[in-house]
Amino acid sequence: MLQVLASKLDSHLLTSLNACVRCGLCAESCVYYQASGDERMIPARKVELLGSIYKYYYRPQARLLPVISGARAINGRTVTEMIDLFFGACTGCGRCEPHCSIGVAIAHVNAVGRAMLSEAGLTPASLQSTVNAALETGNNMAIPTDEFVDTIRWMEEEMQDEISDTRARIPLDETDVNVLYTLNPREPKFFPLSISAMAKVFYAAGESWTLSTRMYDVTNYAFFSNHAAESRLIAERLRDEVFHLRAKTLVLAECGHGSRAFRWEAPNYLGHALPFETLTSVELIHRYITQKRIRLDGKRLKERITLHDPCNLVRSGGIIQEQRDIIHRIAEDFEEMTPHGADNLCCGGGGGQLAMSEYNERRLKIGELKADQIRKTGASIVITPCHNCVDQLSQLNFTYKLGVRIMTLAELVADALIFDQ
Ligand code: SF4
Ligand code: SF4
Repeated sequence: MLQVLASKLDSHLLTSLNACVRCGLCAESCVYYQASGDERMIPARKVELLGSIYKYYYRPQARLLPVISGARAINGRTVTEMIDLFFGACTGCGRCEPHCSIGVAIAHVNAVGRAMLSEAGLTPASLQSTVNAALETGNNMAIPTDEFVDTIRWMEEEMQDEISDTRARIPLDETDVNVLYTLNPREPKFFPLSISAMAKVFYAAGESWTLSTRMYDVTNYAFFSNHAAESRLIAERLRDEVFHLRAKTLVLAECGHGSRAFRWEAPNYLGHALPFETLTSVELIHRYITQKRIRLDGKRLKERITLHDPCNLVRSGGIIQEQRDIIHRIAEDFEEMTPHGADNLCCGGGGGQLAMSEYNERRLKIGELKADQIRKTGASIVITPCHNCVDQLSQLNFTYKLGVRIMTLAELVADALIFDQ
C-alpha cells in the first residue's frame, strides 16, 4: 500500500493532501453526507484519512505526536475505515471538487485510497468478482459466447420485423468497418432491446459497423478498484480488438464509467494516445443528427421527460449539451432536474456500488435524493445514457414508487427514427 502511495505522490496529490482548510464547503455537495448527515462521509474527511496516513510515513515529527498531528499508521483499524469510506462511501462522482473552495482533488484522493487497497488485495470481494469475470471471460457478466450470439440473432430478427427489412443486420466480427460498437453486458443479459435500438440507429444512418464476439464489453470495473494492471489489461483488449477488426472508430455504448475508463483514462493506462477515433454513442447520435444522416419524428413525444446525467459523462467528459440537443429534437415537454448538467447529483449507482451488495442499503438511501429530484420534475420518462444508471434508477423507481419509465438515449432515438423506404 505504501508503494502505491509513493508512486502516486506527485504535486497534484501532495497539494490535495496538505491544502484542505477545513472550510466545510464540500460537505453538502456529497450525496453521502446529504443523505446520512454522518460527518464521517464529508468529502474532506476522506481526504483527511489518506492525509493522516501520509503524515505518519512522510513526516517523522507528526509521527511523534499522533494525537496532535492526526498521523495514523496503516493497521487493521485504518484499513477497515479506508474500505468503508473509499469503497463504501464514495461513488467517485467528482461533484465535491468544483464545490471545494481551493480545488482539492477529493475524488482523486479517494481513487488513490482505492488503488492502495486493491494492490493489497483488499478490494471488496463483490467488486473483485466482477473484475475477475471480465478478466477470465472477456465480459463482466461471464456471458458465454454462444449465448451472446443467440441473443444478437434474436435481436436481429426483432429488428427486421419491426422495420420490415430482412436485409437489416446486426453484424458480428466484420472487418474493415467504420465503427466497432461496444455493449454493456447488462444489455445482452437483461436489456437486449437496447441493442436493437442502437442497431436501428446504425441502419437508418447507413453505417458500416460491427459488434465483436471476442471483446464487446465497454465496462472496466478495474477502473473502480483502481488496480493499475487489471484496468490496463481490459483497456488493452478493447484497443487490440479495434486493431484486429481494422475498424476506423470505436464507439462506446451508453456507459458512463466505461466511456471514461476508455476514452479519457485508457491513454494513461496504455501509455500512449489512442491511435483511432473514439466516441461515445451520445456523440455519435448527435453527429448523425447534425450531419442529417438520421431523421427523427420531431416533437413526437408528448409525455414529460427528464434527463439524468451520468457523472462520468458530464463532469469527467464534458458531454453535457449533446444529449439535450437530441432530446429537444424528440420531446415537446422536457424538464430539467435541479441541479443538472455538470452539477448533477450522482444517482448512487456509480463507483462500482451496484456490484458491492454489502452497501446496498446505503446506495438506495443516497439514491433517495435522485428520486426526489425526479419526482419534482413531474416527468413520466427518465432518460439516461448509462446502463449502470439505468439499473440504479430502476431500483429507485421501485423503492420510492416513482412510477416512471427509465430509457436509454438510444431507445428514445430509435422510437423516433424515420426510415426511408
Ligand atoms: S466524489 Fe462524489 S461521492 Fe465521492 S466524496 Fe466527492 S461528492 Fe462524495
Ligand atoms: S471544501 Fe475543500 S478546503 Fe473546504 S473542507 Fe472541503 S476539501 Fe477542505
